[in-house]
Amino acid sequence: MSTTSATKQTKTFTVCPGCDLLLHEIQPTPGHTVVCPRCHRRLHREQPDSIRRTLAIAASGMLLFLPANFLPLMNLAVLGRRTGSSLFTASLSMFGQGQPFVGLIVLLTGFVFPLLTLSLLFWVSAGLFMGWKARWMPDFMRWYQHLSDWAMTDVYLIGVFVTIIKMNHTADIHFNTGFFCFIGLVMLTVAAQASVDKPLFWELLEGKEKGRQLQEYSVSTLARTGKEAGLVLCHTCHKTLPASLLAQQRRHHGNILCPRCGEIMHPRKQGSINRTWAFICTAIILSLPANLMPIMEVEFFGQSTTNTIMDGIIFFFQEGSYGIGLIILTASILVPLFKITGMILILLSIRYNWTSWLRHKSFMFRFIEFIGRWSMLDIFVIALLCALVQFGYISTITAAPAALYFTCVVLCTMFAAISFDLRLLWDTETTDRIPARQTINSYPTSP
Ligand SMILES: [Zn+2]
Ligand SMILES: [Zn+2]
Repeated sequence: MSTTSATKQTKTFTVCPGCDLLLHEIQPTPGHTVVCPRCHRRLHREQPDSIRRTLAIAASGMLLFLPANFLPLMNLAVLGRRTGSSLFTASLSMFGQGQPFVGLIVLLTGFVFPLLTLSLLFWVSAGLFMGWKARWMPDFMRWYQHLSDWAMTDVYLIGVFVTIIKMNHTADIHFNTGFFCFIGLVMLTVAAQASVDKPLFWELLEGKEKGRQLQEYSVSTLARTGKEAGLVLCHTCHKTLPASLLAQQRRHHGNILCPRCGEIMHPRKQGSINRTWAFICTAIILSLPANLMPIMEVEFFGQSTTNTIMDGIIFFFQEGSYGIGLIILTASILVPLFKITGMILILLSIRYNWTSWLRHKSFMFRFIEFIGRWSMLDIFVIALLCALVQFGYISTITAAPAALYFTCVVLCTMFAAISFDLRLLWDTETTDRIPARQTINSYPTSP
């Protein structure tokens, strides 16, 4: 333990959202990625010409959105009988199969949220580009950040590819305009999200110009973390505020709202551990029916067979489509299993103060957050198959009960990751093990 007496130091500080380490704020150098020295989380990576690029890409994405969703995606032909579907009718197919909840989730993640994220991004970047100072802009940016993980057009596109490979042996496939528009839409959506420079957007939304004067705080020289320094970080826009100042902020039903983005501010996410446990336990219970019960029913010349998730995977391996079999195995079985065991390990680490491998566990959690949405792949494939494979007596595919349970498992694991506050893991490390005041690491961005 240090024996130096604590004095106050007035500087501009920031707090790492991943591990709560107190850091001197620096202006990022163009072409450099700023990384936390304690947990190795990426803090900032400057995107060149971010606002203009985001605006242009989001606008193009919105132009493609309607043709991609409403024009016919593809036609399938079996023994002279033809069926076809647009992406939107495929999204609605689950409603006609007696699976309204799964239908709603497919509709939201495949259509509503992608449209909303693109529109929100368009309006925020347009507002910043035009220099508007509207009150809705920070709200739009906040909603965009919350919804971006739930807009799953990229997962849907992989679902379309899996469906094509699955049907390739049994049907003649003809691609329509909607298919090519959809590929364009996914590329634009991914590019638009990648071009957003969130710290820059938030600074401009707050009304500060680039190269701003950073606000200075008085902080004890002994403080190593945001908690010790009495600084609270907003979960959404990552604004740092002294806890003493928070008391003066505007209140909403007894909660203190972030002055920049309007999010409720807490030193740590409230009830984080209990809520994460609850979601994980629910996911474990629901995994049983999700994997043991049939997920779809295939009728082929009057003969009906039911398939579990594992049957579908075995089908691809038997057909010799190892790549696609591996993708489905990873998305439907390995990813949920990894998410559940990973989260349990992290929760137990906090419960029993296991302070080793913190950086690795943080990396694992960030990976769990990143891969969470990819488990929806199987559900999208089933929705597409239910829409496309409707050949009457020859062959028909319908959804079976496990689709509902599997969707709930994916939602629970995603909510578990959202509810969890990773800083609680780092709180288990005693302060004297944290090295003296560190500077942010800055690495050249790889070309
Ligand atoms: Zn960190
Ligand atoms: Zn905020």
